[in-house]
Amino acid sequence: MTKDIEKYDCIVAGAGFAGAVAARELAERGNKKVLLVEKRSHIGGNSYDELDDAGILIHKYGPHIFHTNLARAYNYLSRFTQWRDYQHEVAGNVYGKLIPVPFNLNSLHMVYESEKADRLEKMLVETYGMEKKVTILELKKDESPELAELADYVYRNVFLYYTQKQWGLAPEEIDPAVTARVPVFVSRDNRYFQDTYQGIPKDGYTPLFEKMLDHPNIEVLLNTDIKDVLGFEGGGLMFRGMPFSGTVIFTGAVDELFDYRLGQLPYRTLDFLFETYDMEWFQKYGTVNYTVDQDYTRITEFKHLSGQVNRNKTTIMKEYPRAYTGAEGQIPYYSINNPANDGLYEEYRQLTESFKDFHLLGRLAEYKYYNMDAIVFRALQLSDSLIDKEEH
Ligand code: FAD
Ligand code: UDP
Repeated sequence: MTKDIEKYDCIVAGAGFAGAVAARELAERGNKKVLLVEKRSHIGGNSYDELDDAGILIHKYGPHIFHTNLARAYNYLSRFTQWRDYQHEVAGNVYGKLIPVPFNLNSLHMVYESEKADRLEKMLVETYGMEKKVTILELKKDESPELAELADYVYRNVFLYYTQKQWGLAPEEIDPAVTARVPVFVSRDNRYFQDTYQGIPKDGYTPLFEKMLDHPNIEVLLNTDIKDVLGFEGGGLMFRGMPFSGTVIFTGAVDELFDYRLGQLPYRTLDFLFETYDMEWFQKYGTVNYTVDQDYTRITEFKHLSGQVNRNKTTIMKEYPRAYTGAEGQIPYYSINNPANDGLYEEYRQLTESFKDFHLLGRLAEYKYYNMDAIVFRALQLSDSLIDKEEH
């Protein structure tokens, strides 16, 4: 498909939330002609969902639950979807016993006899307060020997092995912000998230993306790596061999974009194993985390998330974390944030600064552990700044 390059004001690489929101905003609010280039055969990025062979709606790149306190992100997406009210609950499988994760007061009463559990509950409430969250690494430093012992139990039975599987490292060796995502919760609330807005797009994520990208100013080009159409030459950007002076937004991995010229940025990847069973339900919870055994970290059963009714079949997914090597077909899912890696990322980011109107946006392009809502919000902010710049 050859198009007149004069036609496009903006080129966006990647059709996940970062690229799709930016494309829609620039097309609609900015009245720009946008070309959205995506290397996969579909839109939606890692939030993509589809029906499997059994007719079950699955999340192809891992379970995605939308949750946010950012009204702007929620309201924006609500233009393109209705929501199924879904409050995610996760159980940790600790030697066969299923306990609420994040570890909370209900979990406490399941793992200790009642007198001890009552005593620990009282201490937790007095020290941290009811409905408060404390990270496992903080709790481990508690001065009281009893709370330190509780912390040790939670550390060993919920965090240690799961984190080793997920990151290949112990909890102390990774960015503390990562384990802080799943704190110890002084509460009886068994939900995984406490955000104001939570849910799953009623018809799925892919239809949400289809609606978002359905705009006369947006053209989507699938199965195309941006590197095949965009070049960096002599300080300028080239599109299909011709100088391009419009806006470019890149949402992929920046080390890959520059052919790893400063070295590889480290990531973790996942292998997903889907299994379909001839039964209505495989497990009681949306997700069960395997915190003390198994090679996979968790099992998600999609019908819990989607609300889909099927009495005869169900599909589950197991997640096997691996080191990302850059091998053909592997996808970098998680940045490994630490001072050395963030420093290398910063060098790549600086490389892009010499290109006028070139922007890095998204979980990969910014090398950050962002949830969907944060990405939607950042895409709206970047769009604000690009559109405002035009108006002034
Ligand atoms: P992506 O969705 O990764 O999209 C980037 C797109 O760019 C991809 O489609 C990619 O193919 C394309 N691309 C890359 N390089 C190029 C190139 N060179 N040329 C053209 N196209 C390119 N968030 C939540 O809020 N809730 C959850 O429950 C949740 N669960 C998750 C579970 C897993 C296993 C993972 C990995 C992530 C989860 N997330 C969750 C995070 C969520 O996936 C991200 O926040 C979101 O996908 C980020 O959007 P993005 O557009 O930045 O990136
Ligand atoms: N984590 C853990 N045990 C659990 C759940 C989480 O050790 O049962 C740790 C682990 O290090 C994980 C991090 O907390 O990588 C963040 O978990 P989250 O569920 O937010 O991860 P994601 O869904 O983003 O993969």
